[in-house]
Amino acid sequence: MRDEPSIDLSAPAGDAVKTTTCYMCACRCGIKVHLRDGKVRYIEGNRDHPVNKGVLCGKGAAGIMQHYSPARLRSPMRRVGPRGSGEFVEITWEEALGLATEWLGQVRRTGPHRLAFFTGRDQSQALTGWWCIQYGTSNYAAHGGFCSVNMAAAGLYTFGGSFWEFGEPDWEHAKYFMLFGVAEDHASNPIKIGLGKLKARGAKIVAVNPVRTGYGAIADEWIGIKPGTDGLFVGALIHELLRWQKVDLDYLVRYTNAPWLVIDAPGTADDGLFARDAKGRPLAFDKKSGALADAELADIAPALSGRFALPDGRTAVPALQLIVERYLAPEYAPERAQAETGVPASTIRRIAAELARVAFEEQVVLDVPWTDWAGRRHATMVGRPVAMHAMRGISAHSNGFQTCRMIHLLQILLGTIDCPGGFRYKPPYPKTIPPQLKPRGKPGEVRAEEPLGGPHLGFPLGPEDLLIDADGRPTRIDKAFSWDAPLAAHGLMHMVIANAANADPYPVDVLFMYMANMSWNSSMNVPAVLRHLTEKDATTGAYKIPKIIYSDAYYSEMVPYADLILPDTTYLERWDCISMLDRPISDPDGPADSIRHPVVAPDRDVRGFQSVLIDLAARLELPGFVNEDGSPKYPGGYPDYIINHERQPGIGPLIGWRGKDGSETGVGDPNPRQLERYVANGGFFVDHLKPNQRYFKHANQDYLDYATPMGYVTSGRRHTFQLYSETLQKFRLAARGHGPILPPESHRARVATYFDPVPFWYAPFGDAGVGPRANEPPESRGGRATGPTAERDFPFYAITQRPMHMYHSWGSQNAWLRQITNQNRLFLHRGRATSLGIIDDDWVWITSAIGRVKAQVKLHEGVNPDTVWTWSAIGKRGGAWGLDPAAPEVQKGFLLNHLIAELLPEREGGYRFSNSDPVTGQAAWYDLRVRVEKAASDEAGETWPRFEPLANPLLLAPSPLVLARAEGTKEAAP
Ligand code: SF4
Repeated sequence: MRDEPSIDLSAPAGDAVKTTTCYMCACRCGIKVHLRDGKVRYIEGNRDHPVNKGVLCGKGAAGIMQHYSPARLRSPMRRVGPRGSGEFVEITWEEALGLATEWLGQVRRTGPHRLAFFTGRDQSQALTGWWCIQYGTSNYAAHGGFCSVNMAAAGLYTFGGSFWEFGEPDWEHAKYFMLFGVAEDHASNPIKIGLGKLKARGAKIVAVNPVRTGYGAIADEWIGIKPGTDGLFVGALIHELLRWQKVDLDYLVRYTNAPWLVIDAPGTADDGLFARDAKGRPLAFDKKSGALADAELADIAPALSGRFALPDGRTAVPALQLIVERYLAPEYAPERAQAETGVPASTIRRIAAELARVAFEEQVVLDVPWTDWAGRRHATMVGRPVAMHAMRGISAHSNGFQTCRMIHLLQILLGTIDCPGGFRYKPPYPKTIPPQLKPRGKPGEVRAEEPLGGPHLGFPLGPEDLLIDADGRPTRIDKAFSWDAPLAAHGLMHMVIANAANADPYPVDVLFMYMANMSWNSSMNVPAVLRHLTEKDATTGAYKIPKIIYSDAYYSEMVPYADLILPDTTYLERWDCISMLDRPISDPDGPADSIRHPVVAPDRDVRGFQSVLIDLAARLELPGFVNEDGSPKYPGGYPDYIINHERQPGIGPLIGWRGKDGSETGVGDPNPRQLERYVANGGFFVDHLKPNQRYFKHANQDYLDYATPMGYVTSGRRHTFQLYSETLQKFRLAARGHGPILPPESHRARVATYFDPVPFWYAPFGDAGVGPRANEPPESRGGRATGPTAERDFPFYAITQRPMHMYHSWGSQNAWLRQITNQNRLFLHRGRATSLGIIDDDWVWITSAIGRVKAQVKLHEGVNPDTVWTWSAIGKRGGAWGLDPAAPEVQKGFLLNHLIAELLPEREGGYRFSNSDPVTGQAAWYDLRVRVEKAASDEAGETWPRFEPLANPLLLAPSPLVLARAEGTKEAAP
């Protein structure tokens, strides 16, 4: 072995080191911040931190440039010029909070729903949601509706968990890993560490993605699938597994509703519902007794196929039979899938065979005894080592919900959920399937000066849970939980501005947003959004959205369109709480949460948004934020709230060091020294599950007994996977005219089609979205939704990915990260480009049904030939983010957002649905179809459209860093 030099990689770079949590993306790694003279000098990974174990990515290392960005806002501001002009005056915090209190108080006294409060990728939704409950508006959500609600909702309605923050592959034991359409930044260091483990053990990694970048580049096999067809690919895998009878029937009996009997009574109100006994318990046919029995009993031998008579003379079949019939049909045969997906049938068969071999011939056995929900002792934990992960590339299609359900169905048929080697839940997951939270905001539930009766977001179990009025109209501004998007578990933030400006379903008085760049890269059809933000009422001359309050740390494109700016701190200047009440940092072996704390004091007149919100709540005297005498309950702001707030007795934002002396975990009285303990521990707390609690959490009594008093699960009972979704069938029955709450005629075909209780694949709407009546259910168009106009006029799928080194729009202000990428290209398949007469570096026009954009191309082989793609959010508007108007991001960077319609074409009657998944309302970003044409030589060199530069913001905080270019870019010492 060669001698390696010993290098001290953690040599102090200053005079102090403080530990906190990174926020350069959503992964929440632990960092050590080196300071000199009170200024940030260097950031390294915290080796003791459970999330990253010392690993730091390029974004995390570049945090110093984010913290000292020249785009930082420096003071509260009030708009004085027209919206969009960037004309503001600096005001004091007292003036700013007074104005906000006046605006918000007026609305609360008259109609709280006329406040729309939506937040971006903040990590304090437990607070913001609670704030809105106390305020009383029904119009609250975070950004999940335009991110990955399909992923979350499909998982929670199917098996009580989901990928990403809710679970992860068993990196230690998986032998075969399928990675679907992953956006690198959403699973950055944790997934890199996990992939490294798989590589080291020789596990096979298969990347299913139209683009081979990032993680796909290190995969053993790349499946360059056509966008939006993943569900059909998965369906074909299931087809083959069923044909070969390579499914885990024991697992299906133990953990799923596969044996539950489904009533077969076409035309009746019960058709497709589960047959139940007098107590409402689902029935199965017990082969041992030869009779119907409670399907949830442990000691029956339920039939998985057959037709059985019910006491009332009707017949019913096991749910699995319906699933098998669907997937054995010719439409899921590999040859059919090949035509749609571009993946050869032989490849599909081989992958299916590999899955079967690893799952059933290479099982993992852990010598860990455990007890299941029925009290049965098991000597070992046996797992099938196939793991999967998917994210936004799957979910950001109009067929994303059902596609995600299909991926989960595949995992469950193989028996790989929460077993050694498979997918693993992270506590507090799994939850009841679906979680027992109903959305609030029905007519009568929103009352002046009263809190809402519960959370805004939830999981409807049927039409009776929708937020609609007596005429079926939405009660929420984003139309979540209406017939447009019945299972909109994260809301539809992408529709708020358009709906508010169009007063559809009603106008709002105040739009309050946090950390959401809605006038640029977070919206579809940016020109339309800018129009909505500046539109005035023809009669009154007032803006159609009368008041906009916005909080951000930076001068993003959204800032000039707001009326009142509440400047936030950077992530190194604030308190934060990454809570079990929201999305903690747990791993499958134990619950964990963390904090951020100010490692430096702000050098500007800015305040952490969460503390500002708590201050506003006290001024508005919101219940829960004031004492009986009206005094503020949390006068110390967010840290005070983190310590002392209790959602239920003993349960607060943090689980570590609870109880007066800090001796309790999970449940206990507030501990006045809790935050000190977190700070001393590097900013995090981990609770470790015992080995017998770590797998099969959905049915592991040792885990359930632990999780119930902690409040992670409610009943302590096992969770039964819902392969066949009765909830979806209830909506479909309503669409067929059954029940007291029916969809409007205009919505019935849509609901009847897409609320199929058995997961299925349909072509994304974008395939035909360029023609009229694009949103018709496929069967009404005679099958696949290939509009001739789509294939002829817009032959390419167009998608975006985020670069691993940037996160949303934040990266393009970062002096270090900009040196990696400051211009995005349109990536095009080399062979297709040649046939179009396009060579490397050419400029092209990209045209969709609603507009065109000019971009420079880069050719490569690692892309599906029918797909073009680019990095998202690199293109910037001149004047924003502290960038020079001549910056490459402005002159050459571009957004595909301008080409994506926020509404689908009109249906008969003129109604236009949002460009979203019909079940959840998830924004269908990746349904886009375009054509690409070479630009004329005199058109080369600059992007188009170029928006008028924003006025140079007068109120930015100068960066104390000086960047000088000598031999390469150098940083002068702060
Ligand atoms: S992965 Fe994300 S949270 Fe972790 S260091 Fe990188 S930017 Fe920070």
